[in-house]
Amino acid sequence: MTWARSSRPRVCGVCRELIAIGAPMAVLTIGHLTKVRCGVCAGGPVPPDLPASIVQAPAPPIDVARLGLLPLDWSRRTQPMGREREPGEEG
Ligand SMILES: [Zn+2]
Repeated sequence: MTWARSSRPRVCGVCRELIAIGAPMAVLTIGHLTKVRCGVCAGGPVPPDLPASIVQAPAPPIDVARLGLLPLDWSRRTQPMGREREPGEEG
């Protein structure tokens, strides 16, 4: 169980109370399911290191070319070749 602040209105899975935006809530992940509990139902004290507000870091732009996720010469690599070439080898 981890603590977080609600980034959108949620409903406690136990008492059905509304968990307002920014309110602390306990998050339980069971398999692919995510359950939330209000602070009362979670039973535990809110950890003091929980941020006072929702921290939403802006998603950095993804430079796929720099990350090497777009092999620009992929068609060349898939052509039949007489021998195996090392990646980056010319000729
Ligand atoms: Zn509750």
